[in-house]
Amino acid sequence: MSTETPTAKLRIGSKWIDGGGATGSTPVFNPSTGEIIAKTPVGSASDVDAAVAAALDAQPEWAETPVVERARVMFAYRELIARHFEELARLVTREHGKTYGEARAEVQRGLEMVEFACSVPVMLSGDTFPQIAESVDGETNRHPVGVCVGITPYNFPNMVPLWMFPIAITCGNTFVLKPSEKVPLSAIRLVELLVEAGLPDGVINLVHGGKEVVDALLQHRDVAAVSFVGSTSVAKHVYQLGTAHGKRVQAAGGAKNHLIIMPDADVDQSSKALAASAFGCAGQRCMAGSVAIAVGSAGDPLLEQLVGFAGKLKVAPTDNNDASEMGPVISGDHRSRVAGYLETAERVGAKVVLDGRDVDAGDAFLLGPSIVDQVTTDMPLWKEEIFGPLLSVVRVDSLQEALAIGRACPFGNGASIFTSDGYAAREFKRHFNAGMIGINVGVPAPMAWLPFTGWNQSFFGDLHIQGTEGVQFYTRQKMTLTRWFESASESHHDPVWKSK
Ligand code: NAD
Repeated sequence: MSTETPTAKLRIGSKWIDGGGATGSTPVFNPSTGEIIAKTPVGSASDVDAAVAAALDAQPEWAETPVVERARVMFAYRELIARHFEELARLVTREHGKTYGEARAEVQRGLEMVEFACSVPVMLSGDTFPQIAESVDGETNRHPVGVCVGITPYNFPNMVPLWMFPIAITCGNTFVLKPSEKVPLSAIRLVELLVEAGLPDGVINLVHGGKEVVDALLQHRDVAAVSFVGSTSVAKHVYQLGTAHGKRVQAAGGAKNHLIIMPDADVDQSSKALAASAFGCAGQRCMAGSVAIAVGSAGDPLLEQLVGFAGKLKVAPTDNNDASEMGPVISGDHRSRVAGYLETAERVGAKVVLDGRDVDAGDAFLLGPSIVDQVTTDMPLWKEEIFGPLLSVVRVDSLQEALAIGRACPFGNGASIFTSDGYAAREFKRHFNAGMIGINVGVPAPMAWLPFTGWNQSFFGDLHIQGTEGVQFYTRQKMTLTRWFESASESHHDPVWKSK
């Protein structure tokens, strides 16, 4: 690694810090070129102690700052993100490998989270119950929980951090962000812009590293709440360790999302939607459709269109190349892991009908779109989250069989049906075993105003990320009963309602 390679900075209180208590570093690649563009310090518990102490110190004053003033910082932040939109999108492309269009869509979704945070003042209002008992009024209102933590994955370097800290902070909490060590640059830029927007020192802090830092955050006495997004095994660990140490935890995990195609579906529209769902962001989305379930006669015409369409996608490096329609995956190791499923597919009885290994990759971590037909539910292709541009196709005879596959799936993020039959759509919506449902929509990922309602092993916790549930997660309710004694009043008189 060259000594000139920049190192990801930490933000502790009012200061940007190089290195902190790092015990080493990990590389940040540009997946379009294979070059190392930065290094991320492998932080330690001392960084966590410093960041949490800064957040704890800043919290009382920030919580006392009127909520409209806190929201005003978000209005300024929203303007800064809009002004730096292109720069932020280019940064996502550079460190993650998304196409420029995909990166813009990501930044747009993140921006909307900030817009949602601007409306937090309305969402903090409570309930009031005048005269709930004789001379007694009841009310509830929402208070911040304290120091909150966000631990984020590599696949949305900009959007997922923005799922968390804008809401937490506007609710009156202070925050420590621990982004993925693979993509720290977007997180740093987002924090820089938030500081520029006028956030007081210590309200946002940033640390880097892997398991050691995450575990130190989860066990820290002064951390109140933890938001996590990543793979299922780590999500489960985060949930268990965090709750065992008294934190509230929301932990979103991995997925296996099913796309059901009925025989009456529009073949052209649904195959385009399927290709976009499975191969968009090179399949590295937790809401990517990774299994197509073709019902009855839907299979052959769908596959023909899909292979034709996906086979024409322009797979190319994305950095400085806006013509690319599908970019690389995050690393050489990940490309090998995804390709490994193709190597074993035929051995287990499936059929590779489009092979992404044929692409000319150069130094980029490119893998073209792959489609594997005749997949069954006993194969790793169906059982495991692959998280790359590989679509498995399962053939069934009825919607009932498709619903049964959903029931057998341990994950439960998203599922979509393609049909022109309202009854089938309704059956699917009511009975498919997943928390986010699409009807003729390839990626049923909610926007900021709706909760990201993963089920089963795709989510651990109670209150989901985004929407009003997000606000509930970052606040706790206080209930007050009030009685004023008549004798304490200066003007002794009959109750007002008795006077004429
Ligand atoms: P990951 O689980 O490897 O890493 C996520 C975070 O956890 C990172 O910050 C990482 O540093 C940390 N981490 C990794 N291993 C750890 C360990 N053993 N102990 C403690 N912390 C650890 O996930 P990833 O590869 O960065 O992201 C891809 C995964 O995220 C996929 O499984 C995808 O489905 C999932 N994801 C889920 C959602 C959702 O909303 N459900 C959204 C985006 C991504």
